Amino acid sequence: MKKPIFAYFMAATMLSASMVATSQDASAQSNYDAQFVDYPSYAGDDLEMRVDKSGTHFKLWSPKADKVNLHLYNDGRTGEAYKTIAMTFNSTDGTWSASVAEQLYGKFYTFQIEQGGKLYAETPGVWAKAVGVNGKRAAIIDFANTDPEGWTEDRGPKVDYFTDVIIYEMHHRDMSVHTNSGIANKGKFLALTEEGVRSLNGEKTGIDHLKELGITHVHILPSYDYNSVDETQLPSNVYNWGYDPMNYNTPEGSYSTNPSDPETRIREMKEMIKALHDAGIGVILDVVYNHTAENDGSNFHLTAPGYYHRHWENGNYGDASGCGNETASDRQQMRNYIINSTKYWVNEYHIDGFRFDLMAIHDIETMNQVAAELKKIDPRIFVYGEGWTCGDSPLKVEKRALKEHVSQMSGIAVFSDDLRDAVKGHYSNAADRGFASGKPGNEETVKIGIVAATAHPQVDYSKGQNSKFPYAASPQMIVNYVSCHDDLCLTDKLRLSMPDATDAERMAVAKLAQTVVFTSQGTPFMFCGEEIFRDKKGIHNTYNQPDHVNAIDWNLKATNKDQFNYYKGLIALRKAHPAFRMPTAEMIAKHIVFDKIDSEKQPNLIAYSLVDNANGDSWKEIKVVLNGAATAQEVKIKKGDWMIVAQDGKICPEGQLGTTKGGKITVAPYSALIIARTK
Ligand code: CA
Repeated sequence: MKKPIFAYFMAATMLSASMVATSQDASAQSNYDAQFVDYPSYAGDDLEMRVDKSGTHFKLWSPKADKVNLHLYNDGRTGEAYKTIAMTFNSTDGTWSASVAEQLYGKFYTFQIEQGGKLYAETPGVWAKAVGVNGKRAAIIDFANTDPEGWTEDRGPKVDYFTDVIIYEMHHRDMSVHTNSGIANKGKFLALTEEGVRSLNGEKTGIDHLKELGITHVHILPSYDYNSVDETQLPSNVYNWGYDPMNYNTPEGSYSTNPSDPETRIREMKEMIKALHDAGIGVILDVVYNHTAENDGSNFHLTAPGYYHRHWENGNYGDASGCGNETASDRQQMRNYIINSTKYWVNEYHIDGFRFDLMAIHDIETMNQVAAELKKIDPRIFVYGEGWTCGDSPLKVEKRALKEHVSQMSGIAVFSDDLRDAVKGHYSNAADRGFASGKPGNEETVKIGIVAATAHPQVDYSKGQNSKFPYAASPQMIVNYVSCHDDLCLTDKLRLSMPDATDAERMAVAKLAQTVVFTSQGTPFMFCGEEIFRDKKGIHNTYNQPDHVNAIDWNLKATNKDQFNYYKGLIALRKAHPAFRMPTAEMIAKHIVFDKIDSEKQPNLIAYSLVDNANGDSWKEIKVVLNGAATAQEVKIKKGDWMIVAQDGKICPEGQLGTTKGGKITVAPYSALIIARTK
């Protein structure tokens, strides 16, 4: 790591928007930006290199360069340029062009600009769609060679509403690299193309595991070409999350079986996507347009110095990412870039959605244009992100794509840190407990999560711990979760915050915590391996930890089969019952009725009903009771013919755990009771 990236991961999780909003930034954008106002922009999607019948055509956007050279190479990494061509400037759109009258398939290229008397380093540009090993030279390939069989017919799953999506966040190495995974292509895109794979003790792993669990979409951690892993050292490839972007429009080489062949990574990533699509699973990319791995060494800086990043008045890089810089989505060509890049991933790779890292570094207008442009291609494409920054930004607060501004962003969702911290305890304080692990006082914040941060007559936002108003105009604007790749994973959080408990008790808490996530309105999100109670050795932010920390030990699936079955049951319940997936705020306000519970007398107890066949549900009423106390608690249930769906750590999505006539029911410690009636 060249950047203080650790600080980023610590803070990226949640520097609350309200904290940022108090900082002094009101007049930050001004004189420094003036130097860029006369830059022409170029909206076309044909920048940098394209091949047609007449030859190979190059076009670099670099409005203030004095000279640009194109270097052509035979090799992706070594050797001298076999040819250097001076490019020609077009002042109207700020581009530099050159053409070669042959199709240069198999060759590589870089650009090199001179500006203000300075010769900059060579760069593959910002639009390299294929690269040599380690991404320093762009490659010229025939994309027709990268399509797997049947690619033209390949489609992601059809989903009507974002609230119907169930997200599984995964890292390629976590999922497959353990010796117990039974997977041959460990740590590779191809891992998820292997069917019939089993753990050493016979449980399904890989794509079979995902199908068995029932999630609808995988959200893969950064899979564009990033900087931190040396792709020439495949056998000893070290682990990294990949939040250090280098080439945004090319897959990462270390996830391929041959990073030196520019076509291989592209073909293999497409094969993974096709395998998932064939299994009915959508693919969401984690995209990190908010900063670059390098500052002055970034491809952005080397093509148009200063333009693509934000700076303070004194010329210092803005650093809302905590990684040394931040990009400037509010400048037209950076905005064009994000829009064209996401569209490219959809059109070329059939990507079904995007998770924007530190989305609030981007401006609201850019995010709205991104979502609108993507939905023109396919209305099912989902866009969501972290509605916070990791530090102050030269971008004015009111322009930031913050969680609190999500209602200004149609078709975009944000992560709910409300539910996350309230259910399991504060993300950065390992010892802190939450609603599900026995700490009182979080009930109202959990309710904010249950109603997906929409306005509800029975939710008192003044008691919210992270948010004080119903910031979501629709449940489709909210992603609910209790853990992700950041910070402690759920198992480690429970081990550190419940040091005197047994793992059996912690597993009960984990079940309860995920019951809150999967029964709440909004879109549920889970982190890979939690369903089998995986841990990460108690380490926070394992972005560069070795495989033995990050790999999921798949033998845990047999050991913790009861845990897995509970998650599977929760997912099946949610998929079978639209009451948990209401698409509008109005429906939630009408169909969710909370029991009146005195939190002073009965802390850590929440009960509510989904009434009147909510969202067309076959069940007339569903009662959800959440007991996060270490002791059993009693609730009064209306008389009726109820079937028991979940009780005391067991779940049966069809409601066949038993029946009850209502009245007083005791709910076990750290557990959920879900009952339903059809009339
Ligand atoms: Ca790389």
